[in-house]
Amino acid sequence: MIARFEWTNARSVEDAIGQLGDKALPKAGGIDLMDRLKEGLDAPARLVNLRTIPGLESVLEESGWLRIGPLVTLAAIAEHAAIRRSYTALAEAALEAATPQIRNAATVGGNLLQRPRCWYFRSDQFDCLRKGGDTCFAQEGENEFHAIFDNSNCAIVHPSAAACALTAFRAKVVAQGKNGKREIALDDLFVRPETDITSENVLTPGELLTEILVPAPSDVTRSAYTKVGQKQSFDWPIAEAAVVLETGGGVVRKASVVLGAAAPVPWRATGAEKVLIGKPLNEVTARAAASAAVQGATPLSRNAYKIPVFEAVVRRTILAAGQGA
Ligand SMILES: Cc1cc2nc3c(=O)[nH]c(=O)nc-3n(C[C@H](O)[C@H](O)[C@H](O)COP(=O)(O)OP(=O)(O)OC[C@H]3O[C@@H](n4cnc5c(N)ncnc54)[C@H](O)[C@@H]3O)c2cc1C
Repeated sequence: MIARFEWTNARSVEDAIGQLGDKALPKAGGIDLMDRLKEGLDAPARLVNLRTIPGLESVLEESGWLRIGPLVTLAAIAEHAAIRRSYTALAEAALEAATPQIRNAATVGGNLLQRPRCWYFRSDQFDCLRKGGDTCFAQEGENEFHAIFDNSNCAIVHPSAAACALTAFRAKVVAQGKNGKREIALDDLFVRPETDITSENVLTPGELLTEILVPAPSDVTRSAYTKVGQKQSFDWPIAEAAVVLETGGGVVRKASVVLGAAAPVPWRATGAEKVLIGKPLNEVTARAAASAAVQGATPLSRNAYKIPVFEAVVRRTILAAGQGA
C-alpha cells in the first residue's frame, strides 16, 4: 500500500526548490515515480508536481544550442521537426522508448533521472547493495538483462534511452537548487557504482533539472539510434546504441558512440570512436568499430549473449548514421 503523502503544485522553479528536501520528491510525468511508490522503494512525505510550472515544456533552437525543457514529453521530442532533422538519434530514442501512452506522459527530464529496472532493486524481497544491503543478487542470480561492462559491484543497466542519445550528442544539463545553478555535462551527470552505489546521478536532494542543452550540429553531423528488445513493444532494450558522426573528405572526422543497457551508466565506446576516426564510412569500418565497442566486456553467467547483439547494434547504427553522410 502507498503511504500517505502531501501533494503540492509548484508555481515556479524557485517555489518547487523551496518545497523539496529529504522527504519531498519532484514529480514530472510520474511514470517511474508512481511505480516506485507502489513498489515501496520510496515513501515521500510530499510530492511536488512540476507540471504546473510554466515554461519548462519548450524546445528552442538558439545561439548554437538546442534548449530542451525538462517537461517536454518523449512523444513531443519524437515528433519535433527540428529534432528529427538535426538530432535524429534523440528523436529515434524517444520514439522507441516504452509505449505511445507512456511517451505522451513521460518527460525527458524524468526519463534521464528514472531509477534502474533491475528486478532485485525493484523487489522488496531483496535488500540489494543499491538499497543499502550487502549483496548484488544479480552477480550469481538472474542476470540476463544486466550489465556487461562495469558490473563487478552492482550490475544495473542505465535505463534511459534519452541519456544514451544525449550523451552521444555531448549534451549538458542545467541543475538548480538552493545554492544556485550549475551546468553538468551528460558524461558527468551519471554516477558509476564505484563512486556512489546508492544513486545514479550527481544531483543533490532538492536540486532540479531545469534545462537540457544540446550543441547545434554542423552541416556534416549525422546521427542514428538503434534499440533491440526481446519483443517490439512494451519492452526495455537488451541493447541500444546512439552514434553521432561528422564526415569530411571521404572519412570520419568526429565520432561519438554510446551504448545503453550495457553498463550502470550510458557507456561511451571510446574504442569504437577511435577506430572510426580517419576511416571511410563503410561496412569494413563499421564492423571494426563494432568489434572494438565490445572489447573489455565482462559478461555475467547469463548475459554473454548480449555481446554479439551489441556488436550488431553498433554496426547497424554506424551504417544508419552514415547513410545521411
Ligand atoms: C512498460 C515500460 C516500458 C518502458 N520502456 C522504456 C524504454 O524502452 N526506454 C526508456 O528510456 N524508458 C522506458 N520506460 C521508462 C519511462 O520512459 C520513464 O519511466 C519515464 O520517462 C519517466 O519520466 P517521467 O516524466 O514520468 O518521470 P517521473 O516518474 O515523474 O520522475 C522520474 C524521476 O525523476 C525525478 N525528476 C523528474 N523530473 C525532474 C526534474 N526536472 N528535476 C529533478 N528531478 C526530476 C523524479 O523525482 C523521479 O525520481 C518504460 C516504462 C514502462 C512503464
